[in-house]
Amino acid sequence: MAKRLIYDLDFESLAAALAELDQPAFRTQQLWEGLYTHYFADFAQFSNIPKDLRDSLSAQFIIDPLRVQKSLLSQDGLTEKVLFALPDNLSIETVLMRYERRNSLCISTQIGCPMGCVFCATGQMGFIRNLSSGEILAQILHFMRKLKAEDQNLTNIVYMGMGEPFLNYEATMNSLRRLMDPRGLNFGARRITISTVGIIPKIEQFTEENLQVNLAVSLHTADDSLRSQLVPANRMFPLSKLIPACKAYTEKTHRRISFEYALIDGVNDSHEAALALSSLLKGMLCHVNLIALNPSKKYPLQGSPKAKIHAFSATLEEHGIPVTIRLRRGVEIQAGCGQLASAEKTNDNKINTLQ
Ligand code: SF4
Repeated sequence: MAKRLIYDLDFESLAAALAELDQPAFRTQQLWEGLYTHYFADFAQFSNIPKDLRDSLSAQFIIDPLRVQKSLLSQDGLTEKVLFALPDNLSIETVLMRYERRNSLCISTQIGCPMGCVFCATGQMGFIRNLSSGEILAQILHFMRKLKAEDQNLTNIVYMGMGEPFLNYEATMNSLRRLMDPRGLNFGARRITISTVGIIPKIEQFTEENLQVNLAVSLHTADDSLRSQLVPANRMFPLSKLIPACKAYTEKTHRRISFEYALIDGVNDSHEAALALSSLLKGMLCHVNLIALNPSKKYPLQGSPKAKIHAFSATLEEHGIPVTIRLRRGVEIQAGCGQLASAEKTNDNKINTLQ
């Protein structure tokens, strides 16, 4: 029988697994703490648990399913991108970005992505499979371990790597619940951001969860027909329906929503485009994040130059739309989502995520 990933179990399921091994109830808390407070990656590290139980657990479960396939560090040493292999030999990417006062991790929720955004290396790969909640958490725990060894902490987590989190809703929510569980990781909801391309029914479902987790929607343009070209999901979930769903989210949760806008030179970065965006978002409790598009192999266009980004930002500000210009990180290590996995696919079919 294949071993199960222990991070896939919630507290109650772990308690049930231990009860089947005739263990007293307190063992669940001991194991939970070992996994999520001490970040143990090997059952041998659980010194407070009897050896025969550790042996039984390691016969049934694996703790860390990730094997580092490739790790790239940006020239300034602040951005690290890791390509992980999973037990079925498929690959995912995770990116750590270090800032002066915070360490932010960008995690994946799917292998590949079915959404097909034209400029995105992950979209260009197509969809392979969903990650389990434990596989999502394993990325976080890998970097928590690494930062702990440096006497540092992970401060922010963004669900913005490979895949559309809302198309893997249950696993995404289960990973969030374990991440925020006060008995274990106890990670603050306000330091977590879920990013979506705009899957309206799931935005509505997420609104009803009424969590303090941040929501980011990848907008990229206020023009419906251009958005349908860039982000095919827009054909099913057009702006005329997406924006009201976003407004309903802010009204119900009283939380500000973020809109991500990748500026593409000559495509969505004109003065008129900035005016259209200002008018679309007028009066909303929102914030716009502008970033120059990350280059990807199959999309020939470039990110906007700095001057255009600043002019775009100034127009939004003049119209009262809160905006931040985000620095592109790790371009030289292909830190944009899916770029490393697709490069591996090209370079070495043995670690091709499609196999
Ligand atoms: S941008 Fe996000 S939603 Fe679009 S294809 Fe890439 S991973 Fe999928």
